[in-house]
Amino acid sequence: MRHLPIDLVRVVRVTQGWNPPAHYGTDYSCVVGTPIYAATDGVVHCGTDPAGFGTYVRVDTGTHLAYAAHLWTVAVREGQQVTAGQVVGASGNTGNSTGPHLHFEVRDKAGSPWRYGAIDPGLWLMEDGGEMLTTLHVQRHNDWQNLWARDVGAGWVKCVNPPTGRVLYPDVPRVLVRFWTDDRDAAYIHEGRAGGSRFVREMRDQWLSVPDATAWELANEPDCNSNEGLAQLNEYTIGAIEQAAVYGLKLCVLNLPEANPSGDEAAIRWKWQQLLPAVKRAVQGGHWIGLHAYWRPGVEGPTGRYHALGRRAFDIGVWRELGITGARVLINECGIDGGIADNPPREGWRTLSDADTYRAQIVEAERYARTIPGVDALMLFTADYLGEWGSYDVDETFARSLIAPLRALNAPIEEAPVTSTELDAARARLGRLPATMKSCDMRGYTFRDEWFADGFFYALAWAPVPQRYHVLKLETRGWSVVEDSAL
Ligand SMILES: [Zn+2]
Repeated sequence: MRHLPIDLVRVVRVTQGWNPPAHYGTDYSCVVGTPIYAATDGVVHCGTDPAGFGTYVRVDTGTHLAYAAHLWTVAVREGQQVTAGQVVGASGNTGNSTGPHLHFEVRDKAGSPWRYGAIDPGLWLMEDGGEMLTTLHVQRHNDWQNLWARDVGAGWVKCVNPPTGRVLYPDVPRVLVRFWTDDRDAAYIHEGRAGGSRFVREMRDQWLSVPDATAWELANEPDCNSNEGLAQLNEYTIGAIEQAAVYGLKLCVLNLPEANPSGDEAAIRWKWQQLLPAVKRAVQGGHWIGLHAYWRPGVEGPTGRYHALGRRAFDIGVWRELGITGARVLINECGIDGGIADNPPREGWRTLSDADTYRAQIVEAERYARTIPGVDALMLFTADYLGEWGSYDVDETFARSLIAPLRALNAPIEEAPVTSTELDAARARLGRLPATMKSCDMRGYTFRDEWFADGFFYALAWAPVPQRYHVLKLETRGWSVVEDSAL
């Protein structure tokens, strides 16, 4: 079981991601003294490297090394056996660091194309025991839900109108809470910034009555299409974020309905631009952005471009074009919904599909969502609320049947070594960019990969003598090599 090295709620933002060869880990900016956890079970080495990692803890699993660097203090001793999630120290700003942050790096002892065998720590965390995105949207709390979330390895659960005064999900890392305020939300939003601030002030006591809540939802499915609605929603959200900062609370903002903001691509872009200040504030403050995604058999599937996750991947791409990176998204309602595409609502999977088909679609949704940057959870609508949403019900039996197929996604992928025939075929296919390969050949290196960055082409090459990787940097006028550095 692997564990995030730091609570995301304590992270100011991810200042640098996995971006080799420029950066070999993930940088979580956080205040000095933030608890840092062992990312995996293993044996500890405590080190000091004033020119590099500063004070650091390395956990050795036998096959991998997980580093937590630039620490302030260390809470474990040399040679100690630790388990994932155990506190190993507190974050700091030691070594080669320009500000308080945690540098988290993972190395494969068997080697990788990168320096010291570094690998993508995000993918590594996701493998075997990484947090499952798929989880429950709960409308009536029951004890089975906590055990289910534990068994599937969910990082979140969402509970609507939870019972107060007691811990509901002791085995779930993060809980999203929504109290139903739909009859009042329009009035708060109409007041703009003052309304957002007033909403947080008035909800605070009720919110804090749920001891294990991590984040609380603002208005559900607000107007995000009219000019007035967009302007008010933007202001209301900023007002709420400012008030939440006073109380030290984390929010889940926007909570937009599937396929919204609506329109063609240009209209969607324009509407997101109107909400950009709110999105920016949410990202800076470490809040989550709630977006709904639904699909309907015969209209589209879980990766669909119009109402489902494909649409949310597009929205996150629009944010990136507008300069927003590092946003954390909760798909806080998803699943089969008969109401999309102007169909009559309140028909769920139990009338529109069958358990086997829906299960396969949920697994597909999980697989796809892991490729969308910033998506932290997929909350299946809805558990244990019968009545009018009875045909959407994810009951214990169906939920349990999801565990094995979802967890099967975490099985490590066996990577077969590349054969020389395959390499030759790849060379032939990449004939349109021969310069990188020619440069490798001229040096007696084996071409492995190429990429373009900041106006230069780079080639990753394997040098057989001595056995090591090189990066070649090529200028794009005459395609000459301007730099050849060994990794
Ligand atoms: Zn770093």
